[in-house]
Amino acid sequence: MRKKLIAANWKMFKTPDETRDFFREFLPLVSDHERDEILVCPSFVNLPAAVEAAKGSNVAIGAQDMHWEKQGAFTGETSAGMLLAVGCTHVIVGHSERRQYFGETDDIVNFKLKAALEAGLTPIACVGEVLEEREAGLTEDVLRRQCLRAFHAISAKKAAKLVVAYEPVWAIGTGKTATPQLASDAHLLIRGEAAKAFGEEFAGQLRILYGGSVKPENAKALMAEAEIDGALVGGASLDPKSFAAIVKY
Ligand code: PEP
Repeated sequence: MRKKLIAANWKMFKTPDETRDFFREFLPLVSDHERDEILVCPSFVNLPAAVEAAKGSNVAIGAQDMHWEKQGAFTGETSAGMLLAVGCTHVIVGHSERRQYFGETDDIVNFKLKAALEAGLTPIACVGEVLEEREAGLTEDVLRRQCLRAFHAISAKKAAKLVVAYEPVWAIGTGKTATPQLASDAHLLIRGEAAKAFGEEFAGQLRILYGGSVKPENAKALMAEAEIDGALVGGASLDPKSFAAIVKY
């Protein structure tokens, strides 16, 4: 039985004060929630405030990105060791907005995954097709390529903490959600790629989240799919009541 992970991706929203306000309202709403794991990923500057606010609670804190080197002359970047030092346990890697706006390639995603796993963080590796790829019938090819390259030269032992998020890019922030069936089919394909890379047993335990306009109104139907092991939530995670409603779907 795979325990679901419900994760918030706050993107470039909120200040430290707003982060504290969120947790003040959110934590009491989910304090008795044991069925799923809960994760919030704020921007770098909000990580200390989030870690402090969530201390002793059932909510883990993660980052939205990291660099793959341990340290060095990489202005503006943050390493896995730095994330661990401020109390992060998770990190999102290869989000489509990183790929689309910051030139993140499949190889970079692979470097970051290796570094995150090596450091002991739980990486959430994002994959997903853009609208043109889906319309051209290329979804399966794109997902296969992204998985193959992301998982390259990582052993099943090293990959133990890996989580994957299927995020069809046409569904992110657009209000268009994949149907539970469409998401489920993509998850099956991703699980198949994980089986090729890491073996059947590993693939059977791998958690694959769905992301793309998850809202309180559609979370239940998506989470009812056996293939969907949680959600990565953007816009609807910014409001404590709305994110709590998704957690409690
Ligand atoms: C995301 O940023 O990963 C995401 C899925 O965003 P939204 O829920 O707003 O579509």
